[in-house]
Amino acid sequence: MANLHFHYGVMGAAKTANLLITAFSLNQTGKHVEIIKPQCDNRFSDNEIVSRIGLRMPALSLQNLDDYMPKPETQFILIDEIQFFSTQDIDKLVEIINYSKVIIMGYGLMTDSNEHLFHASQRLVEVGAKLHLIESNCQIDGCMNLATHNARFDKNGRIITNGPQIAVGSEQYISVCRMHFEKFKSGVILNQIEK
Ligand SMILES: [Zn+2]
Repeated sequence: MANLHFHYGVMGAAKTANLLITAFSLNQTGKHVEIIKPQCDNRFSDNEIVSRIGLRMPALSLQNLDDYMPKPETQFILIDEIQFFSTQDIDKLVEIINYSKVIIMGYGLMTDSNEHLFHASQRLVEVGAKLHLIESNCQIDGCMNLATHNARFDKNGRIITNGPQIAVGSEQYISVCRMHFEKFKSGVILNQIEK
């Protein structure tokens, strides 16, 4: 089994729920699991991971992984919103798996709303993390295409493709397929989209 995994998907693809279900079933079979999340992600709680469907579990909230070392008994490390960590943090994870039998599973976004890779996600690919796409459908009514883009909109429904890197919280974000992303980029307004 690979010892470094990256489960990625767009916003709303149930990545956090996936993490929590994995943690739950590992706990049930007596495995020692640590859950980590970046400190910047405090939209629901400072010391818990909470999924939109209501599942929650305690988590270690860390700004970076500089001083982090897993407990000696830890077998699995699950990391939520891993895209918000840094390139150096991913290298620290690689160091950990090189010198232990721990299995690390990161969950998060591959790209931001400007169609660019997050640094941590890029590093995960570069260091050979096993990639698992968590699929979800385009959130435009009636569209069944695979959601591939995190589209960000201003209050007038215009897409923003050169804004600051994605913020936490999904109010102004919609996960869409490539076709709809291109439509919005060509000037179509969100509430005028043809179904
Ligand atoms: Zn679509």
